[in-house]
Amino acid sequence: MSMERTRQASATETAVQPPLQPAGAKPAAGEHAARGPRPKRGVPEGLWQKCDGCGATIYRKEAEELLNVCPQCGFHWYVSAAKRMEQLLDAGTFEEWDGDLKPADPLGFRDKKPYADRIVAEQKRTGLKDAALTGTGMIRARRVACGVTDSSFIMGSMGSVVGERLTRLVERATAGRLPLIIISASGGGARMHEGILSLMQMAKVSAALARYSQAGGLFISVLTNPTMGGVAASFASLGDLCFAEPRALIGFAGPRTIKATIRVELPKGFQTSEFLLEHGFVDRIVPRKDLKSEIARAIDYCGG
Ligand SMILES: [Zn+2]
Repeated sequence: MSMERTRQASATETAVQPPLQPAGAKPAAGEHAARGPRPKRGVPEGLWQKCDGCGATIYRKEAEELLNVCPQCGFHWYVSAAKRMEQLLDAGTFEEWDGDLKPADPLGFRDKKPYADRIVAEQKRTGLKDAALTGTGMIRARRVACGVTDSSFIMGSMGSVVGERLTRLVERATAGRLPLIIISASGGGARMHEGILSLMQMAKVSAALARYSQAGGLFISVLTNPTMGGVAASFASLGDLCFAEPRALIGFAGPRTIKATIRVELPKGFQTSEFLLEHGFVDRIVPRKDLKSEIARAIDYCGG
């Protein structure tokens, strides 16, 4: 995860993801300039939102009624972790686990500002303690263990708290013989601010998932825009079933980094849900409105 992206994430107040490049498209000349600060247009703030998929200005309420999906092009917008739980679980059934876990700053890390200050600012801005929310709830009357990462908290990167919460989630699912759902929205991968402690979370969560699998558990991993880096390289790719939302950016390193490293023209649509479905990495693309019923169906099909 680059410093630049972290800075952008914490500076962004709106709930919009970085624009997703259309499949294989090169940015047109002058496009970056067009994305600079625009003059205010006298529209009440928060009522309208620009779609990152088609560029249309959308009445926010209309998109919200469609679970934050663009009514014009079907692009799936950002959804906060709390909202995800609300969308996915039966009303009033969510019960949070390990909500008291808070990040520490073991390295005394600082980039543009001290990590300790960054944590406080992110917590205030997002209302989350860290980038993951975990707990239990019902999906169409089936009890599940459910975890969500939130890309608005330091790019949804996996530090010690995200890793620990997910590990405990998996362990509780193992003990309680519950189906496990993890929805990934992590553009950041491992959280560099916590150094090796962040990196080891990949192995820790993966090991817990291996034990869960040996115990016969069903893990459904849902990949959403964006799922990158150490998150994509660990638990997000380990589902018995891997679902993805349409047109999500999913991969390890970003396309620009890969292109600069291997100096090869990348295939069209590289790192999108559709490309990964075609190449066997994703089992099914599920639009957000169908996610709940598809998960319920998969649980039944796999024998609860
Ligand atoms: Zn759109």
